[in-house]
Amino acid sequence: MRTIGLIGGMSWESSAYYYSIINREVRRRLGGMRSAKSVMVSLDFAEIAALQHDGDWDMLGRRMADAAAAAERGGAEIVALCTNTMHRVADAITEAINVPFIHIADPTAAAVKAAGFTRVGLLGTAFTMEQPFYVERLRMRHGLDVIVPTRAERGIVHDVIYRELVQGEVLDASRALYRDVIARLIGRGAEAIILGCTEIMLLVGEQDSAVPLFDTTELHARALVDASLA
Ligand code: GLU
Repeated sequence: MRTIGLIGGMSWESSAYYYSIINREVRRRLGGMRSAKSVMVSLDFAEIAALQHDGDWDMLGRRMADAAAAAERGGAEIVALCTNTMHRVADAITEAINVPFIHIADPTAAAVKAAGFTRVGLLGTAFTMEQPFYVERLRMRHGLDVIVPTRAERGIVHDVIYRELVQGEVLDASRALYRDVIARLIGRGAEAIILGCTEIMLLVGEQDSAVPLFDTTELHARALVDASLA
C-alpha cells in the first residue's frame, strides 16, 4: 500500500469526505482493520479564496507546490489535490514533487466514458467552468463534449459554493436553484452532470437530476485508493 498525500482544506468540508471515503474503500477492499496510509497538508481556505478572487494564480501555484512538497516529505508516495479549482495550478505541483500526481478530472472523465456518456454538463466554481484548464482537459484529453451553464447560472452556482457550501451551509433554496441549472443543462443535451466542485455533493444527489451525476470527490478518492493499492 502506497501512502496517499492529500492537499486539503479547500474546503475542509470536502477534505473530511476524502479521508472518510479513502478509509472506507480500503476497509471494503482489504477487510478487517485495514485502513489507508495517508498524510494531509490542510490549508486555511480564507487565504486561498482571497488569492483566487484576486487572480493571483502565481502565488497559489507556489502555495500548492509547497503543500505538495511537504506532503512528499511527510511520506506521500502519490499526491492529490482535494479541490477541482486549484487544478488550475496542477503544473506547479507536478514540478515540485517526484511522485505521481492524480488529477481529479482524469478518473472523473474515465467514469463518465465507462458509463457510455460523451455529452456532459459541468458544475463548479466560475474558475472551473470558465477557464480552460478543466474544460479543455475534459475535451482534448478525454474527448468529452462539455456544456457549461449560462453566465447568469454560473454566477449562481459559484456564489452558492463560496457563500454557503465551503462554510458548511446547505440550504434547500440553493438546492432548488441547482436543480433548475441541472435541468437546463439536460435541456441543452447533457447526458450526465459532473459535480466539478468537491462540495456540491453536500447539496445535490441523484434525486435532484434526471440524468446520472458524477461526483468528483467520490471518484477522485476512489482513484487514490486504486493507485495506493495497485
Ligand atoms: N472545493 C471546490 C472545488 O472543488 C471549491 C473550493 C476551491 O476553490 O478550491 O473546486
